[in-house]
Amino acid sequence: MDGNQRNIFGLYQKHKDSKLTFNEIQDIKSQIMLIEADMNRFAFNDGRGIGFDDDTGIISINKAVFKEQSEVLPEYRLSIRGILAHEYWGHLMNHPSPHEPNTPEDECWADDSAARRSPGLTAEDKTILFRRALKYAQIAREQFPLGESAFEYKVDDLVRRYLSDDEICKLSE
Ligand SMILES: [Zn+2]
Repeated sequence: MDGNQRNIFGLYQKHKDSKLTFNEIQDIKSQIMLIEADMNRFAFNDGRGIGFDDDTGIISINKAVFKEQSEVLPEYRLSIRGILAHEYWGHLMNHPSPHEPNTPEDECWADDSAARRSPGLTAEDKTILFRRALKYAQIAREQFPLGESAFEYKVDDLVRRYLSDDEICKLSE
């Protein structure tokens, strides 16, 4: 796994007990309203880190949402709203996923779906979600260099609206 991969993957488990304050939770709730998500599907500071749980159908959120902000490479760094959209519109509303959880294929699919489906995102949120989707697709292909992976990411006009041809070309190698 190279530096790039580490920097968009698997940060949350390290910060399981990191608690949000009351005011931070209020802030996050206002972002949840902006993406028109169901507040009852979110649990704060429940000791599970961050992420959608397939078994309970609940998205856990703790202070690690802010770690994402400082630890991820800037070009892949989602806003809090982008992270919430990824979990809700990308994972929860797409459940069950056709892909294995915690694989680049699944993360690609969640980022792409969130960019397409979530209300209330900024253009920058969508740009970063599509960029991440392309990066995860590239990582998925690298894991199967001999072409055993059936995974293919389709770049369409909507993706082209947010990412330059150069960037798409670079991430499609
Ligand atoms: Zn995810």
